[in-house]
Amino acid sequence: MIEDKNQQRTPLSALGEFGLIEHLTQNFKIKQTSTIKGIGDDAAVLNFDNKRVVISTDLLVEGVHFDLSYAPLKHLGYKSVVVNLSDIYAMNAKATQITVSIAVSNRFPLEALEALYDGIETAANIYNVDVIGGDTTSSTSGLLISVTAIGEVEAEQEVYRNGAKPNDLLVVSGDLGAAYMGLQVLEREKEVYKVNPNNQPDLEPYTYIIERQLKPEARKDIPKLLLELDVKPTAMIDVSDGLSSEIMHICKQSDVGCDLYEEKIPLDPQVISTCEEFNIDSTTVALNGGEDYELLFTIAQEDYPKIKANPNLTVIGYMKESKEGLHLVTRADTRIPIKSQGWKNFNE
Ligand code: ADP
Ligand code: MG
Repeated sequence: MIEDKNQQRTPLSALGEFGLIEHLTQNFKIKQTSTIKGIGDDAAVLNFDNKRVVISTDLLVEGVHFDLSYAPLKHLGYKSVVVNLSDIYAMNAKATQITVSIAVSNRFPLEALEALYDGIETAANIYNVDVIGGDTTSSTSGLLISVTAIGEVEAEQEVYRNGAKPNDLLVVSGDLGAAYMGLQVLEREKEVYKVNPNNQPDLEPYTYIIERQLKPEARKDIPKLLLELDVKPTAMIDVSDGLSSEIMHICKQSDVGCDLYEEKIPLDPQVISTCEEFNIDSTTVALNGGEDYELLFTIAQEDYPKIKANPNLTVIGYMKESKEGLHLVTRADTRIPIKSQGWKNFNE
């Protein structure tokens, strides 16, 4: 959490723009056959033969999307790749390449960017994607990171948000709410640190939720699993803003309604215990927390036997006619309309 004051600080001006790009990207190796030309020319060249190509971009801004006082740069590099790949997997596609663009002020030494790129490289290796380009420029204050992810999918496998039908089952991978609760713990520790810098926090009870916040993973395995199970979702989205917001996207674009069962929402025990500690309702956290990077999808009822035994997947509700609306069915069996809060409002 705390920057090492003794570490080396090489000013970026010592390398110049081209030297910096070369230095940061020297280790990147091409792994995908679809990458014909990577870093080093005016543009990258890709060949997907007859596959569909999917592309998604995200922009991360210091002070808005991340806080460097508790997000180590290596983790930030890793996370900025992962959040983009998540969008590719949400199309039921395989991620193949990324570009990485950064705007950086001279308050960052070379060593900071090395840490950032170390995280980017680690993610690129783990997720088996090539870094094929980017842009590097200066910023007057903070750090900006933009990642573009590229992927491929067979035309008959691609999944949009708009294909859900009434009676389809609503399914989510993994568990929800952990990244948000991890952030609550980190924010609390930051306040404690401000008051007493010598205080050594015991973060042991929060390892899972802090990791989910600082070093999330994207569900690369799910499109593959669905193919193996011979299940093609009717609609799919990744959970970046919170379950309620993602359900609303699917319902709106598919013109359907939904019943979501509170008791079915998958929660890790650390989320439950930390919610109790912070006196926050765990369902609210799952609905509005965000940054889970799980996949939320709908499947036809007849596919239920194929997924029901899978520990990665939980059926949390089912789709209805759009005139029925969107509801959370609580443990007490009351029906509450699902409203979008999104994590931004949630913080206010
Ligand atoms: P141009 O002047 O044409 O924009 P650059 O000097 O910015 O070219 O980039 C040279 C090469 O380095 C290109 O292949 C570009 O995609 C790549 N590149 C530039 N910045 C980055 C970066 N931050 N990360 C990865 N690749 C980069
Ligand atoms: Mg450039």
